[in-house]
Amino acid sequence: MRRKGILVVVSGFSGAGKGTLMKNLIKNYDNYALSVSMTTRSPREGEENGKEYFFVSKEAFEEKVKQDGLVEYACYCDNYYGTPREYVETQLGMGKDVILEIEIQGALKVKEKFPAALLLFVMPPSAKQLKQRLAGRGTETPEVIEKRMRRAVEEARGIESYDYILINDDLEICTKELHSIVSAAHNSIDRNEEFINNMRQELNVLVKGEK
Ligand code: ADP
Ligand code: 5GP
Repeated sequence: MRRKGILVVVSGFSGAGKGTLMKNLIKNYDNYALSVSMTTRSPREGEENGKEYFFVSKEAFEEKVKQDGLVEYACYCDNYYGTPREYVETQLGMGKDVILEIEIQGALKVKEKFPAALLLFVMPPSAKQLKQRLAGRGTETPEVIEKRMRRAVEEARGIESYDYILINDDLEICTKELHSIVSAAHNSIDRNEEFINNMRQELNVLVKGEK
């Protein structure tokens, strides 16, 4: 029986280390497919089109929405971000665990459309370290950092909608924890209904046959 892929949503405050964590996960384990989102924000230094994001104009983004080409999309700090549908569906079909690194409004939409999705929230070890990491990344102006810190206050109110938190203190430990949670989810009762029902039927047949 081929294992079905799990749709894994990873959210967390900007600067918590989601991107770093995702890169480390992909480097260390095989069965993950990382969805590349579409965004209207400008690339940061070092970011490549098609790698971190598909960087598009507002018009191109709106066209994609019109074509129903996105699983979900949201506005975050004045820019649009969305998950292209095709890649997600193909990879799940191939049995890959598909990771969506998206913010909270998008995560809630995914949960509505795919109730079996696994929702994880990445936290820094402390709020102080969050600010230090945001500043240390050196990619945003002080105004944008302030905006993202205020957004973190709002996002912290929604954590109860998630299944698990991940504390990104030591990157390697956090990566292993993430992989363990996804691995355990593959064995959950509700993700194995078909196997369980087949077993029940086989048991019935065997027991009746033995009479
Ligand atoms: P996000 O994708 O959540 O916005 P990033 O992955 O860009 O966050 O990380 C923000 C900054 O924090 C980066 O400079 C990154 O190198 C650093 N960082 C990420 N994880 C850790 C960690 N476990 N310990 C220390 N610094 C980290
Ligand atoms: P950044 O500009 O730091 O790359 O991303 C800003 C926020 O947008 C992060 O919280 C990130 O997880 C989120 N994000 C990235 N891609 C998507 C997406 O496709 N959909 C949604 N809803 N949020 C996204």
